Amino acid sequence: MKYRQGLYTKPTSQAIEQAYEEGYDAVFTSPSREVAKKAKELGILYAPVIWVPKANDVKQGVVNAWNETALFAFNNSGCIMNPQLIQNTIQTIEKAIIETGAEAIIIDALRYPSPHDQKWLFTCFCKHCQQHMKTLGINSKELAEKIRQATKNLHQYPHLKPEQYHALQTLTYIKQKAVETALIQIKEHTQKLGTELWAAIFPPSIAWLVGEIIKPLTGLEISIDYKEIRKKGTGPR
Ligand SMILES: [Zn+2]
Repeated sequence: MKYRQGLYTKPTSQAIEQAYEEGYDAVFTSPSREVAKKAKELGILYAPVIWVPKANDVKQGVVNAWNETALFAFNNSGCIMNPQLIQNTIQTIEKAIIETGAEAIIIDALRYPSPHDQKWLFTCFCKHCQQHMKTLGINSKELAEKIRQATKNLHQYPHLKPEQYHALQTLTYIKQKAVETALIQIKEHTQKLGTELWAAIFPPSIAWLVGEIIKPLTGLEISIDYKEIRKKGTGPR
């Protein structure tokens, strides 16, 4: 499935027509039957975008090293290690494919909070992530303590004590393993549905920090024009 230039835009017929007039031959929006119909009429590609960590209950949020819980991004995103969230994503994907007939689905925000979320960059210590750490042989309580210490000296980075530097690296590794685990589950289902799976990811300079493990995800990556997103004001952050 090939396209020349795609646009991440609003899920309305008007936005799709505008994209077509501007020369785009692919559009990406939240799942919409109306958009699918319009894209088909215009002969351009449409791939629905699924916001993976979607949550509206703070109990499904991410827990930072200070044991504070929050929903991140647009105050609508929880922890991807919560099995309920991944289950919801799989159901949303199935529904989107039925409603739009799309041959490809884009998963968005399969990740942890970014530096934009400040203290929540130092996540996640929710019960699901604690369990995940246990399977990796990592003591979550000790790690949280070392992270708290490391953040006191963060302005000196990378000139930190080895154990604090290592703690930050370990937390990043845990996030990458969590993204990988969730990705495997989602991929299993989309393969059964015969749908191509793509992913919207951060640029490599920051992707690693939020758990977006580049090797498996780049195989799915779509090319997003970040300048265009900023102009339209609809992109991920
Ligand atoms: Zn978690």
